[in-house]
Amino acid sequence: MTRIVLASSNPGKLTEFNALLADSGLSFVAQSAYDVSDVEETGLTFVENALLKARHASRISGLPALADDSGLCVEHLRGAPGLYSARYSGRHGDNAANNARLLHELEGVPTEQRGAFFICVLVLLQHADDPAPLVAEGRWHGSVLTEQRGTHGFGYDPLFLPDGEAVSAAELTPGLKNRISHRARALAQLRASLDAPHS
Ligand code: IMP
Repeated sequence: MTRIVLASSNPGKLTEFNALLADSGLSFVAQSAYDVSDVEETGLTFVENALLKARHASRISGLPALADDSGLCVEHLRGAPGLYSARYSGRHGDNAANNARLLHELEGVPTEQRGAFFICVLVLLQHADDPAPLVAEGRWHGSVLTEQRGTHGFGYDPLFLPDGEAVSAAELTPGLKNRISHRARALAQLRASLDAPHS
């Protein structure tokens, strides 16, 4: 088993990564076990921020590190809320206020211009100075509804209508969402890279 520090303070993610990558020979440990504090996310892209987080966790723990960064990008808003998805309203993690701001920004915008995607970027570093990180990405395309629907999930799920579905992400069963989401896609890509024979 290879021990990898998960560069996140979210205990739900630790459980999710351990469950989904259990049979890949990797075991994830919370960064808090190594006194890794949250690093300032100063990047301008998801991949930059994931790299910053992974490098910081790896430098302090001395172990390989995996970091993720995710958010919602709305085409009409030139990719916003993007990196600022968690604090779009100005208050970090206030889902109700973030959703209200998104609805406000898209007021009067017709359905065909409400395209959006969730993105999840994963970065795996073997060590803090690793020049060739493994990078995986998953995108989940859909559009932004004009009102909230559903009670499952979190964040922008009640406003996100995935392509090919008749219900919002918050109306999908959690099991189905976890199989088709941006996170599931990024994890599948990481998994494929890890399983691929070295060239
Ligand atoms: P994080 O990088 O996973 O912490 O996600 C940042 C923010 O993006 C969250 O606070 C949510 O606002 C949004 N987000 C990311 N993934 C999802 C999702 O699956 N559903 C709804 N919102 C999400």
